[in-house]
Amino acid sequence: MPDLIHAIKDHRIQLAFWWRTPRYCAAVDRLIQIKPNCERCGKPSTTALYNDSDFSQGYLHYISKVEDLTVPAGCQHCYREGLRNKRPCPRCIEEYQKNSDWQIRYISVDEKVCFAHLSKEEKIKFKHLTKIHRRINQERKKWS
Ligand SMILES: [Zn+2]
Ligand SMILES: [Zn+2]
Repeated sequence: MPDLIHAIKDHRIQLAFWWRTPRYCAAVDRLIQIKPNCERCGKPSTTALYNDSDFSQGYLHYISKVEDLTVPAGCQHCYREGLRNKRPCPRCIEEYQKNSDWQIRYISVDEKVCFAHLSKEEKIKFKHLTKIHRRINQERKKWS
């Protein structure tokens, strides 16, 4: 186990180092110039998006993908939420296209839309379920 923790730590340090190399910075600058909008939500792009498999073959492989423009460009939010396997709500993306002040919400893979975009019936169902959950938890506390 210590080996694994060590390896993860090394990996992070290595990544932090890569992100600052002039070659990578130049590649990202070019990427976001050519792909000015986030491929997930449409906001202005600021970084390169990736998936874990992009790194398994090493830095040179990944950087060459950024240089070849074969990785998607994205915004900071989609980058960060993507690390937690979250994606922007598709209805929020539509709202954002009409109004750039719209706050895009993020949802997990098994959700179709964010809470704000659930139908009236779905909202009622959701609130009902939350109430049941709360009651179960209260009962559990009583008995434990
Ligand atoms: Zn985005
Ligand atoms: Zn939404």
